[in-house]
Amino acid sequence: MTKGNINVSVENIFPLIKKFLYSDHEIFLRELISNATDATLKLKHLTSIGDSKSEYGNPQIEVKIDKDAKKLHIIDQGLGMTAEEVEKYINQVAFSGAEEFLDKYKDAAKDSGIIGHFGLGFYSAFMVAEKVEIITKSHKDEPAAHWTCDGSPEFTLEESDKTERGTEIILHIAEDSTEFLEEGRIGELLSKYNKFMPIPIKFGMKTETLPKPEGAKEEDPAPTQEIDNIINNPNPAWTKQPTDLEEDDYKNFYRELYPMQFEEPLFNIHLNVDYPFNLTGILYFPKMTNDLNIQKDRIQLYQNQVFVTDNVEGIVPEFLTMLRGVIDSPDIPLNVSRSYLQADGAVKKISSYITRKVADKLKSLFNANREDFEKKWDDIKIVIEYGMLSEEKFFDKADAFALYPTVDGTYYTYEELYNKIKAKQTNKDDKLVILYASDTDAQHSYIEAAKAKGYEVLLLDSPIVSHLIQKLETTKENISFARVDGDHIDNLIKKEDTSISKLSEEEKTKLDELLKEVIPAEKFSVQLEAMDSDASPFIITQPEFMRRMKEMQQTGGGGGMFGMGNMPEMYNLVVNTNSELVGDILNTKTKKKQERLINQSLDLARLSQGLLKGEELTNFIKRSYDMIK
Ligand code: ADP
Ligand code: MG
Repeated sequence: MTKGNINVSVENIFPLIKKFLYSDHEIFLRELISNATDATLKLKHLTSIGDSKSEYGNPQIEVKIDKDAKKLHIIDQGLGMTAEEVEKYINQVAFSGAEEFLDKYKDAAKDSGIIGHFGLGFYSAFMVAEKVEIITKSHKDEPAAHWTCDGSPEFTLEESDKTERGTEIILHIAEDSTEFLEEGRIGELLSKYNKFMPIPIKFGMKTETLPKPEGAKEEDPAPTQEIDNIINNPNPAWTKQPTDLEEDDYKNFYRELYPMQFEEPLFNIHLNVDYPFNLTGILYFPKMTNDLNIQKDRIQLYQNQVFVTDNVEGIVPEFLTMLRGVIDSPDIPLNVSRSYLQADGAVKKISSYITRKVADKLKSLFNANREDFEKKWDDIKIVIEYGMLSEEKFFDKADAFALYPTVDGTYYTYEELYNKIKAKQTNKDDKLVILYASDTDAQHSYIEAAKAKGYEVLLLDSPIVSHLIQKLETTKENISFARVDGDHIDNLIKKEDTSISKLSEEEKTKLDELLKEVIPAEKFSVQLEAMDSDASPFIITQPEFMRRMKEMQQTGGGGGMFGMGNMPEMYNLVVNTNSELVGDILNTKTKKKQERLINQSLDLARLSQGLLKGEELTNFIKRSYDMIK
């Protein structure tokens, strides 16, 4: 057996760079500005510890387009490089370390989706340039150097007459990349990747209006001056201490992040941890809608103030991807695939830290001002309920602040609700039944009936509520939820003392037969109940179990099992034997008239449940007009 290394020749690097990074050419600018930033921050450090005689001053980074000469310049006032350093840092990396280089980036071939997430560094310039020059003057007292390379392994290195400290990178933009000579395109990239980098970045000039001099006439134009156009905010809010920030600072920063967003965030959470990992950031709770999907990908991920991605999947728990804001952490490995990311220990810790912070913040908001929290509940409940379903730890913590509003706008915590209902319960050993409605309009008559009997009715109307109820029923002891128009709540709210039933047994049998003749058995299961005489004569309910299964299918999870995709539309029809109308139906002489009355009553019951549609609705309306004319 022979073993050995395949020798990768250096000539192959540039085609590889181009090929692998094809989908993400634009990151070259982020890489070069990152290098310029590093060079400036290194100098800052050296001067602060007295290791450089150079004057640090107020350095900035300039990006300049020379459209006619097809050149793009990135100029910094950082520590610069000597000729020797250019040899070492620029040449050797690429030309002697070809194998390492390829080894380091081989993942890119596997999953082209992750390419943008690792820095290819200086050589990414060759994705867009056919020739690259470096003109650099070190902060040390040595002559400036001029390096040129046209993408082949050959380069030239000579002395330059540059006198100011720092480095200028000149890209001779290739024929297929001329988009990077457009001011608009470069502006777009700068605002995407470099908006919050720590060193001021100048891109062109802008006109500033000055105050009018004293004694100027009304019609005199205000004087103006040309100033550097700085595109970034080097000190974004998340890099500051929470104690140094006011509420308005957070709101202003939100506007900086989402200039097109007019709605104010509801509240924010400042993340700040340096052990066992480094992470800073600010998360915002915006007003949520009930649509879970449209609001993702709004959190931006940074590493040392450099934008990396707005796909934080795997780093932030799924339910929090609906939030907005920024997370900045140098500890998130980005040159790996997403599946690896989810298994990574550090990333897991970050994710659970964020979950905990969010839960703590919600709890403190609730404790500090419950009234305000209740006001915001409707706009945030979807995130909280989703979190309770998907993260066990969050579920436990949420007990302290998750709210259960009634149809009348009273907000209970679970504990308060439980105690309230328990106090009213007659047989303390029975399972506690919590009544709820999902739509106050559609279920109006049922809600009124339940309230008349003195029951609390919750309003639970988010799309995932059936999942949440299921979860509460399995987690909390001896309780169950029942929707006001569900089937087994007959016992609770509708039934009157059967001993005063107005119909005799014989009459009941007759009624039952009559109803079964007219009402299709495959659609309605008919039940006779002796209820209050002024309750509706016909009431349609849907079995709680069946309705919940259907809802869960629609919102995912629990779906698909037992082939329930084809569950029939099955309803209960409760007929109130004590109602006057039902007595009338029974006593009507002709069969034809009886049928008419039954159909009319059934249609009214269906109408009140929103079940009457199309042709049936048209017929119903026609029939009704005929009756009253
Ligand atoms: P990395 O930034 O990960 O070290 P790069 O390929 O981006 O890798 O850069 C290689 C090296 O070249 C840097 O570490 C730095 O020493 C040097 N370098 C690149 N750009 C500059 C610059 N603008 N000023 C000074 N040194 C630079
Ligand atoms: Mg770099």
